[in-house]
Amino acid sequence: MDSTKLSLLDFADIPELDIMQRAKKFKEFCDDVIDRKHFYYKREALEGSFPVRKILDQYTGKIRKMIYLASNDYLNLTMHPKVIKAGIEALKKYGAGAGSVPLFGGTIDLHTKLEKRIAKFKSCEASLIYTSGFGSNAGTLLALLNKRDVAILDTLVHASIVEGCSNTNIILFSHNKMSSLEYTLAKKVGDNYRTKLIIVDGVYSMDGDIAHLDKIVEIAKRYGAYVMVDDAHAIGVLGKNGRGTTEHFNIMGKVDIVAGTFSKGLGVVGGFIASNKEMIELLRFYSRSYIFSTAMTPQAAGSLLAGIDVIEDEPELREKLWENIRYFRENLLSLGFKMGNAETAIFPIIIGDDLKVKEITRCLHERDIYVNPVMFPAVSKKSSRIRMSIMATHTKEHLDTTLNALEDIDKKLGIKK
Ligand code: PMP
Repeated sequence: MDSTKLSLLDFADIPELDIMQRAKKFKEFCDDVIDRKHFYYKREALEGSFPVRKILDQYTGKIRKMIYLASNDYLNLTMHPKVIKAGIEALKKYGAGAGSVPLFGGTIDLHTKLEKRIAKFKSCEASLIYTSGFGSNAGTLLALLNKRDVAILDTLVHASIVEGCSNTNIILFSHNKMSSLEYTLAKKVGDNYRTKLIIVDGVYSMDGDIAHLDKIVEIAKRYGAYVMVDDAHAIGVLGKNGRGTTEHFNIMGKVDIVAGTFSKGLGVVGGFIASNKEMIELLRFYSRSYIFSTAMTPQAAGSLLAGIDVIEDEPELREKLWENIRYFRENLLSLGFKMGNAETAIFPIIIGDDLKVKEITRCLHERDIYVNPVMFPAVSKKSSRIRMSIMATHTKEHLDTTLNALEDIDKKLGIKK
């Protein structure tokens, strides 16, 4: 087997190799191919806080200060004094960890407060909190759907949703195309399944576009389907009060299951599911990633309670974020860069060539601008891209420096299409 002919995809399963042999082969592949080509799949340890972080440069071995355009901490709540203070207070009062799983003594009052708070924030009857957004999506869907049911997925939903649908039937519809959703429901789904659940992301993590959630809810009703939205990248960003996609479309309380992460606009870690009381009670006893996983740290719960208040009480943070989004967007467009259908804080520049993506990333890093190169398996092989995300605390100078760098690198490498 010639390592240089293999791609990351091939290592998901190699029929003739057992797990240890596959791991050994993968190591050879990494040493041989990935490292040599500087594919940037290595983890890099960062120092300092957003939006400018220190990083150990993998080429020179020196610490450099980078304008950080790779965080989902859109409002920079990771550094908000109230969020930090509440976390410290919780840490001091309850200690570093929850000590047990939620149903066996791991639940503290901050957890139940947070569940009530997030339910209210999302205009749902109840909610359940998890230690990760991946766990809440996957654990919920695994608990709910089996072979009698069908999950109707937008082609670009997050991997955690796909993972959660591993025991059920999956039918895909074209990304954000309502005609495709209708066609799928009418012609492919029909009345063949017990539960029909349409699942979409509120804001797509690699594309930055917004699901047409109002239309999806309306279509679902006509076809007797339920709707679940993963609002990970919309919390704090969309809606007058930062409550996400349902608020943006004025359909609060009209989506059957609302999922989300605490790790992005809320700047901490964890995930949640919000729905009606009966659904949350069902999940409390059947969602294995909830039941069998130690409850969220007190510090996280404390910080999150403060963070939700900040989102609601300090709209100026969201205004600043949107001012930055508009500024960056208008300037990118006027310079001739294309960013697909992006309409939020996520800016993809689709290149479609892994080596070029890697080279552009390297050039930006050289100019102290940290962006993410996104390649398979995060996106399809033909749509590798540079992904930049904007925060409320980026200054005009940060954005201008990035725009100038992109313009210069384009002259050398050709980024615009
Ligand atoms: N859903 C979406 C849309 C995401 O982008 C992510 C994070 N990459 C997750 C779920 C998982 O969330 P977490 O990082 O909190 O596990």
